[in-house]
Amino acid sequence: MEASIVDLISFNNSKFYLKRDDLLSREFSGNKARKFYYYLQNDFPNIKKIISHGSSQSNAMYSLSVLTKMRGWEFDYFVDHIPSYLKDNPHGNYFYALKNGMNIICGDLPKEFKSDELFIPEGGRVDKSEFGIKILAEEINSFMQDQIFDIFLPSGTGTTALFLQAHLNVKVYTTPCVGDESYLKKQFLELNSNIKEHPTILNLDKKYHFGKLYREFFEIWIELKKQTNIEFDLLYDPKGWLTMLKHKDKLKNPILYIHQGGLIGNESMLKRYNRKFNENY
Ligand SMILES: *Cc1c(COP(=O)(O)O)cnc(C)c1O
Repeated sequence: MEASIVDLISFNNSKFYLKRDDLLSREFSGNKARKFYYYLQNDFPNIKKIISHGSSQSNAMYSLSVLTKMRGWEFDYFVDHIPSYLKDNPHGNYFYALKNGMNIICGDLPKEFKSDELFIPEGGRVDKSEFGIKILAEEINSFMQDQIFDIFLPSGTGTTALFLQAHLNVKVYTTPCVGDESYLKKQFLELNSNIKEHPTILNLDKKYHFGKLYREFFEIWIELKKQTNIEFDLLYDPKGWLTMLKHKDKLKNPILYIHQGGLIGNESMLKRYNRKFNENY
């Protein structure tokens, strides 16, 4: 995997640097490619199958389907249920993961795994993800050289933000998109008990629920596309950008925003947004 590029973009009359992990490689890109890089690079002579679980539209599910296809492994993915609309009209992460050979199974995870099976927890929340995120930090370090930047990225489990902060000497800022600030703090604590080494959490006043649709999210996503010609993700980036813009005066250094991919997931989000707000993007 080659280093992803950094673009200089202009939004609402301010300049931002943008780390284009969405362009990392054609198939295996974005945040989950960084997190699963360990499983692409290392030898697993006895492994024939990956087992994971989560939602039927997750970015992690899709990226694991790419990984297992590249490695010639089987892929069993366990879900609680598949929405009937999705089953009847396969699209987005679900569609492409099936195309890559994923076996999707409605039901409980097996209690035990065989010796040729490797279990990866939901969303890639594992210490193994440090391997690929450290490489992202090294790329950022070589981009920054001696200049100081403020790093910003929106968080789900917070794994990426935490490991980035661990391998960077500049401040990493983030905002919780799944759960609230106390959930994110708990996630950080599980990976590192030293709060001095945690990323800095910034918030908006309004509470948002993960995966729900909000007009202001759709509006900033449209505006970003208009002004920068870049497509951002619809699940995490709208809250990321709104939060970063709100706290912009606090961030004294040039800002490097991490574009973490997730664009295949946009297919399903965009269908929902267009239906809800009667648009046609
Ligand atoms: C998974 C994901 C995130 C969140 O990453 P965490 O390490 O769980 O915080 C953010 N953006 C995109 C596009 C993702 O796929």
